[in-house]
Amino acid sequence: MLNKAIHLVWLRHDLRYHDNQALFAASQAAQADNGMVLALFIATPRSWQQHAMAEIRQDLIRRRVQVLASELAELNIPLLAVEGTDYASCYDAVISRLLPLGVVALYAQREYEVREVKRDELVASKLLEQQIPSFWFDRLCVMPPGSVLTQQGDIYKVFTPFKRNWLAKLAMQGVECFAKPAKQAAEALSLPEFPALLTGDNSSMAWPVTELEVLNRMRTFCQQKVQDYATARDFPAIDGTSSLSAYLAIGVLSAQQCVSRLQHEAAQQLEQEKSGASIWLSELIWRDFYKHILVAFPKLIKHQAFQTETDHIPWPNNPALFHAWCQGETGYPIVDAAMRQLNTTGWMHNRLRMITASFLVKDLHIDWRWGERYFMSKLIDGDFAANNGGWQWAASTGTDAAPYFRIFNPVTQSERFDPEGEFIRHYLPMLSHKTAKDIHWPHKVVTPKGYFRPVVDHNEARKLTLALFSAVKGKES
Ligand SMILES: Cc1cc2nc3c(=O)[nH]c(=O)nc-3n(C[C@H](O)[C@H](O)[C@H](O)COP(=O)(O)OP(=O)(O)OC[C@H]3O[C@@H](n4cnc5c(N)ncnc54)[C@H](O)[C@@H]3O)c2cc1C
Repeated sequence: MLNKAIHLVWLRHDLRYHDNQALFAASQAAQADNGMVLALFIATPRSWQQHAMAEIRQDLIRRRVQVLASELAELNIPLLAVEGTDYASCYDAVISRLLPLGVVALYAQREYEVREVKRDELVASKLLEQQIPSFWFDRLCVMPPGSVLTQQGDIYKVFTPFKRNWLAKLAMQGVECFAKPAKQAAEALSLPEFPALLTGDNSSMAWPVTELEVLNRMRTFCQQKVQDYATARDFPAIDGTSSLSAYLAIGVLSAQQCVSRLQHEAAQQLEQEKSGASIWLSELIWRDFYKHILVAFPKLIKHQAFQTETDHIPWPNNPALFHAWCQGETGYPIVDAAMRQLNTTGWMHNRLRMITASFLVKDLHIDWRWGERYFMSKLIDGDFAANNGGWQWAASTGTDAAPYFRIFNPVTQSERFDPEGEFIRHYLPMLSHKTAKDIHWPHKVVTPKGYFRPVVDHNEARKLTLALFSAVKGKES
């Protein structure tokens, strides 16, 4: 056995070596006691399934871990990647078996969902029974949940004052990014046998996974594209957003790195509220906002509505309509093209997430939770807080949500945000012959061959939505 103190870093949603506080702290401690860092990743497919995690996201994680292992190997940090089962078995099946190697401490980034919190509390307490300390770092958000509060010490339920306070904190304390861990001496560590991490289905191959490529993508966006973000970000036919969400979701990149790079590349723009840089920063603040809300209101994890009275709405939940929505067969071209983007690429443009979510709830009258789950099962960037926040915003059931009587008209949204019909043509080739004027509503004369008749009448559906909401508004929850 190697006679060295082992500092064990348990990687989960922080699959990177730059700006990884847990790795950094372990590396510092190992330097101080002449020990070594051992990194650990445990795949938990059964728990992932319970979270309805998309196959493509699982594949991205698996590919990223394999590459991270070789990146860390350059620093002589071994990464043990184990194929496990579920959260409950992490300690007994893996961590406890590593302790005899000489583990002196565990380091990890904190996670906030209920099952994850339970998992980590269990591990921390079992380690403590062995007199092994564990260190948990709040790095999932730029401002840790619970750190941005009103003057009365309450959680903000509205985004704009949250953002104001968040920005004031940023101005005061800045943003800190941690250096990569130091290269350590190469050691031959003899590890117990574990089932090796399986490879995925390669469905995420369109997404590069080396850390430097991802950092480069982020840097290029901040240098060359962020100035156009304010005008380009709403048009799905334009590559006008960063496409970093998948990496932020699994932690190949941290939001702190994004903010720090943005400040470096676009300092002047950030002084103007309406600039692309300021608006992009706002999106990163939304990301923090929804995580703060999730931690403060655990009922959200249980899929309850933030506005409790809306849980009384008797959604008709017609399975045939849900099927048409999932498959992109509703007869509303912008909705169908968007759903096909999701089904074929695992990603959907933000404007389209808003349109399709609104359509499911307010045109098809299907419970937002059905859509939330479907999105999770398909999205490469599936993130509980952002997804739940987005769905509850669109469904008018959430905190600071769209008012229920503001109902997107899918045809005018389409005319506005895909004016030439370019995006629609890409995903619905059966409409490619339609002019820019006709493509948004191709049913004026007769529905084109190979396309779908509209499954609902928007104006009629709108009336029912208003009635469903009015009936519960003001009711005791
Ligand atoms: C119904 C619905 C469901 C959504 N589900 C998810 C999800 O599961 N995972 C997810 O990361 N985002 C989700 N979003 C938010 C948003 O659509 C995506 O973050 C964005 O489209 C990702 O593309 P991008 O990386 O190019 O974003 P950019 O426009 O470049 O934004 C930069 C980053 O900010 C964050 N961000 C942007 N918008 C939001 C937002 N509204 N809420 C929270 N964070 C945001 C993301 O991390 C994103 O990568 C959802 C939005 C809606 C309306």
